[in-house]
Amino acid sequence: MSEYKNIESALIHGGIYGDEYTKAVNVPIYQTSTYEQKALGETPKWEYSRTGNPTRAALEALIAELEGGTSGFAFASGMAAITAVLSLFHAGDKILISSNVYGGTFRVLDKIFSNFGIGYSIEDTTDIPELEKKITDDVKAILVESPANPLLTVTDLKAVADLAKKHHILSVVDNTFMTPYLQRPIEFGIDIVIHSATKYLGGHSDVVAGLVVVNDDELAKKIAFIQNSTGGVLAPFDSFLLIRGIKTLAVRLDRHVENAEKAAEFLVNHKAVKKVYYPGLPNAQGYEINKRQAKNGGVMISFELYENYNIRKFFKSLKLVALAESLGGVESLVCHPATMTHASIPYEIRQKIGITDGLIRLSVGIENIDDILSDIAQAIAESEE
Ligand SMILES: *Cc1c(COP(=O)(O)O)cnc(C)c1O
Repeated sequence: MSEYKNIESALIHGGIYGDEYTKAVNVPIYQTSTYEQKALGETPKWEYSRTGNPTRAALEALIAELEGGTSGFAFASGMAAITAVLSLFHAGDKILISSNVYGGTFRVLDKIFSNFGIGYSIEDTTDIPELEKKITDDVKAILVESPANPLLTVTDLKAVADLAKKHHILSVVDNTFMTPYLQRPIEFGIDIVIHSATKYLGGHSDVVAGLVVVNDDELAKKIAFIQNSTGGVLAPFDSFLLIRGIKTLAVRLDRHVENAEKAAEFLVNHKAVKKVYYPGLPNAQGYEINKRQAKNGGVMISFELYENYNIRKFFKSLKLVALAESLGGVESLVCHPATMTHASIPYEIRQKIGITDGLIRLSVGIENIDDILSDIAQAIAESEE
């Protein structure tokens, strides 16, 4: 927040505001692949839209400002953003990842980067002394989500940043679940922040996009080089949609969180519910750490029903809440991590880290909370056997 004291204002006025040429209050969609050059040998500001595009540049400046970093980069998806960050590493390097990360992050490491000799290992990043023991000479980065997907496990971001600095390796946080409105990892010393902007930043389930923010000019040069070389850039129209979505992030998230807190309370008190994972509950793992590093517990809730409730029937009986991959849109969504978002993680690993077949993940929308809760209540009742 270099220019604006409060993030609510930066969301709307941050980065590059409006259009210098026409004074339009919105950054135009520069739907162009190339730009005319004045003369041979004069490198113009804009030359080719893979390298740079004014609409994308406005979004990149905005996310950098919101996260408190020096540079932002926009990609065609969260996975393209993660791929760009992982492209910083070399054969023989190893990356430590949180024990529950987004399934696609696990998959790209396990099935793609492994082909290039880049290794990974799954660690409990909540246990910092144990994590430190895993930092061997080949380890070059720690990649965490907090809260992590789907068990909402909280990792101490400052402790991870300090640990990475001590061992001269990079710290990377996938901040998708929190957004800069609720949590700003760079303030704790984290080197790289990644977003699937498809989720809360876009906010309306109508755009797939990814963002990267760094706080160091050398690192920025490397990411810019990778972005231009590998080419997974975000299109001008999608950049516009994301800028538009980000403007309402604060008001959307205030309502999302208000609804999530009520939904967590409802689930905790429901006789059919065996376990609730929500970092905003005082008895949740990492509650105190989350309170210190984030504004609140966020929007995502995972829960398990007792064995005498049939989860297939539960999903089938929902009317308002939709069964879908993804999260972070204005509409409430549920998913079944074991067969959907985390299906790429082998069964044994899923059991070990707690992604059981009975786990349900809920992305609480901004509909009327009474409608959301009565839909969940009737679906639970229908699923009792
Ligand atoms: C969805 C998601 C991703 C992947 O992003 P896409 O935009 O779907 O490519 C990465 N990390 C987290 C935490 C996510 O929820």
